[in-house]
Amino acid sequence: MPTVFAPRIPMFGFDASASPKWQMVPRGWERTLVVRGAGALIPDLIPNDIAKITYSRVGADHHLTIKGLKAGKGFIRFVPNAGFTGPVLNSDILEISVKTEVKINTAFHYVKDNAGHKTNRNIGDLNALIRGVNRLLDTQANVRMYRKSARSITVPQNLGATVRFSSHLPGVAAAEHEWDDVTNFADAAADFNVFFVWQYEQDATPAVNNTRAGTLAGEKNCLMQDVITGSSHAETLAHETIHLRGIGPHSGTATHLIASGAVRTGQLISRAQANTINPSGT
Ligand SMILES: [Zn+2]
Repeated sequence: MPTVFAPRIPMFGFDASASPKWQMVPRGWERTLVVRGAGALIPDLIPNDIAKITYSRVGADHHLTIKGLKAGKGFIRFVPNAGFTGPVLNSDILEISVKTEVKINTAFHYVKDNAGHKTNRNIGDLNALIRGVNRLLDTQANVRMYRKSARSITVPQNLGATVRFSSHLPGVAAAEHEWDDVTNFADAAADFNVFFVWQYEQDATPAVNNTRAGTLAGEKNCLMQDVITGSSHAETLAHETIHLRGIGPHSGTATHLIASGAVRTGQLISRAQANTINPSGT
């Protein structure tokens, strides 16, 4: 009977689609998996200095608790006895990555222009938004957003009903490209600058609301609009933060957090994605 691993808490950095199965473990913290079908096999971690594992019977199952000690990649092999060096089935192996925290010190900018357009967001709601982001990124990849600053800014021009990124579009007047007018206010010392605007578009149909937010990782800038439909504000900002951390293209798997907002049905961060946005322990 193959060994079956299941996370005790969902969305906590377990990738069931990886082979072998994979678990992210934050350095200094724990993750617990429910293990079934291992019979008399016992877990053996290689290398054994990156984490401390405990394995105990709970009813008909076992709980495997992994406490991260130092960044590194390892394999927990289920073996007949300690020190066993023979072959082990892939299904009897769990890969782990103990990751140190990636800190994203973020500057938040609440944008207005000189013609009365302004975001309807409130700075008082910001800490709850950041908590929501961290419930997705911190838990799955040990990537944590911090509030560096939050302020209101006034762009000294009329940006119109929609703030546009349009420099890549043929036939659109240069003045329509307003991204730089906003991001001029970026805090160069921040890891990420998030600009809350009323309405944002980056395609040839600015009057049609196709886009919720856009991020240029090279600039460390994000523009995010007020109205978010189809997903939460925290999910949208967490998705943008994955772009910031180096994943440009959208995943074709709808359950992934980095799937396009138009098709996304889940919030998972896969092994490969977690290892890209937080390369420690790989
Ligand atoms: Zn995206």
